[in-house]
Amino acid sequence: MTAIAFIGLGNMGGPMAANLVKAGHRVTGYDLNAEALAALAAAGGTVAANAAEALVGAEVVITMLPAGQQVRDVWLHQGGLIDVLGKRGGAKPLLLDCSTIDVESARVVGDAAGQAGFDMLDAPVSGGVGGAVAGTLTFMVGGADATFARAQPYFQAMGRTIVHAGGPGMGQAAKICNNMMLGINMVGLSEALILAERLGLDLKKLHDIVAPSSGQSWALTSYCPAPGVVPAAPANRDYAAGFMAGLMAKDMKLAQAAAEATGTPTPLGTLAASYYQAVCDAGSARKDFSFVYRWLAEQDRKDLVK
Ligand code: NAD
Repeated sequence: MTAIAFIGLGNMGGPMAANLVKAGHRVTGYDLNAEALAALAAAGGTVAANAAEALVGAEVVITMLPAGQQVRDVWLHQGGLIDVLGKRGGAKPLLLDCSTIDVESARVVGDAAGQAGFDMLDAPVSGGVGGAVAGTLTFMVGGADATFARAQPYFQAMGRTIVHAGGPGMGQAAKICNNMMLGINMVGLSEALILAERLGLDLKKLHDIVAPSSGQSWALTSYCPAPGVVPAAPANRDYAAGFMAGLMAKDMKLAQAAAEATGTPTPLGTLAASYYQAVCDAGSARKDFSFVYRWLAEQDRKDLVK
């Protein structure tokens, strides 16, 4: 049994913390949102009044926050976790950030942790809320070999596939490449589904044809954006997230920034990023990212295809 502080108990962090409780760990959590705290208490965790209080006695500290800004705020700013832990003395806890953030923020926070004498990993995940609930997430991890080995029991409690991607920041590098693929993929799938509907195809039958064929994808078989095809998909709950369109827009922008910095040609990534941004601009940032299917269906072909 390990004492774990878990900060950020949203769509992903909530079920991840619950799986750590199920694995027998003592989890103390903090989130700005009272509903998230209530869910942790219902899952058997302990609720803290603030992030610093969650750290008391923690041997492992995990964050699962929206973006780089929140991760920098929580770990670095005055009263930030590294400061609080540095003043605490005693055995140094293991630090894990599982949020999807820019490589630069991951390195800045990781460096600050290292300078204060802590072992830290960037360990973003893939697998969606379903994977978080089932404990089948994929962890892509950046950091030192020994720290990766030390974190194994906690990753195992929340995930199924755990890959050491490389040194600090490489977990985030892998994650933004994964999400750029997913973001493009979801737009491509949406285009084909809208076309299929307009050609008169039954989408359930199309799913049955494509699922074992060369057009197959996770977006189709686990997360189909058209309602009535895959029961567990957000499309069947009026696109309640899931993975919010605003977060996908953030990840697509992170990928674009990295592509810009490395001179990488990513024309489809650029286009798909603009579509998720348009979904957000239309007021649907909190809907699931598969809502891009609905957005696309309302567009005029001549505005998008030149
Ligand atoms: P979310 O918005 O549901 O959860 C984030 C939580 O952080 C919220 O509950 C919010 O209240 C809390 N928070 C924000 N600032 C805080 C602070 N200063 N102190 C304490 N709590 C704070 O988002 P999510 O879907 O759980 O995503 C979390 C991260 O995981 C993001 O980086 C996202 O890109 C990534 N991710 C999400 C999915 C998914 O399918 N939802 C999949 C893989 C990765």
